[in-house]
Amino acid sequence: MSQTPISQLFSQERPLLSVEFFPPKSDDALEKLIESADDLAFYQPDFVSVTYGAGGSTRDRSAKACELLRDEHEFNIMPHLTCVGASRDELAVTVNGLYESGYRNIMALRGDPPKDSPSFVVAENGFAYASDLVAFIKELHPDISIGVAGYPEKHPEAADLSTDLRNLKTKVDAGASFITTQLFFDNSDLYRFLEEADKLDISVPVIPGLMPVLSLKQVKRITSMCGASLPAELEKHLNLAGDNDELVRQIGIRWATEQLQDLIEQGLPGVHLYALNRSDVATELMSAFRSSVE
Ligand SMILES: Cc1cc2nc3c(=O)[nH]c(=O)nc-3n(C[C@H](O)[C@H](O)[C@H](O)COP(=O)(O)OP(=O)(O)OC[C@H]3O[C@@H](n4cnc5c(N)ncnc54)[C@H](O)[C@@H]3O)c2cc1C
Repeated sequence: MSQTPISQLFSQERPLLSVEFFPPKSDDALEKLIESADDLAFYQPDFVSVTYGAGGSTRDRSAKACELLRDEHEFNIMPHLTCVGASRDELAVTVNGLYESGYRNIMALRGDPPKDSPSFVVAENGFAYASDLVAFIKELHPDISIGVAGYPEKHPEAADLSTDLRNLKTKVDAGASFITTQLFFDNSDLYRFLEEADKLDISVPVIPGLMPVLSLKQVKRITSMCGASLPAELEKHLNLAGDNDELVRQIGIRWATEQLQDLIEQGLPGVHLYALNRSDVATELMSAFRSSVE
């Protein structure tokens, strides 16, 4: 598949399907991940996004993962890019490199601070906010389609949802073509977010992000980091399943599938899957997506 700007895909009749990978810590695990991505190709995701870490080796593996997913599976790739620890000159080198390699999409993020740092620190001659990175990329390559992050339950650092949405509006006005949301487990949180975004004339497509729960411990860690809440009903089911990993997996996939079906029925322009590098999980949800849209 040629690298197509995602902004051009929203005119197609059916909603978009995308899936996110994070580069594993070792080269061996990366090779295995790329092999397992074969299963996903059957479901023809409209794009595959690859996260970008705070450290040097992670960054190299992000680039490698993008390249392998593109060259071996012909996926339309959206590399992520953050402002963490990078000056404008360094960011320009990265953006130009991605462009010269043929990529036409970038997810522009401020990024989370590295583990040893309690809060985000602006790099010397770097950017403080994702909106600055969006404007920068837009100026370098106006034909790159830029995605930005949205937070149905607000970003953890934001005072409230309306403040966070005003900042989201700044990102959109800087040149973002669409928004991918943080994971959430209660669709009413997303619908409230969309209503409030509409009041601010945020009119670019919003792709909701879904993550199936695979263990209670894992979901508690992730939700505490990203500020998403775990509905009491889901938590109750997970507690009842206890250490039965297969039951937990089934509960997680069923919950995400029901969310997905409702989002499609409500006419959302796509669904983004945080499949945690598990191609078995991704394919189950992709199959549910295909059944919902056909
Ligand atoms: C879909 C998605 C993909 C992600 N991928 C990655 C990844 O690959 N790598 C990674 O490290 N992290 C990733 N993250 C996490 C993300 O980097 C963090 O949530 C980070 O803390 C914020 O990034 P942002 O781009 O939303 O920042 P911003 O949009 O810059 O917002 C950060 C905070 O600053 C506030 N803010 C924004 N602009 C202003 C302003 N002008 N004045 C005052 N306050 C402002 C916002 O309200 C918010 O509280 C991802 C998140 C999502 C939802």
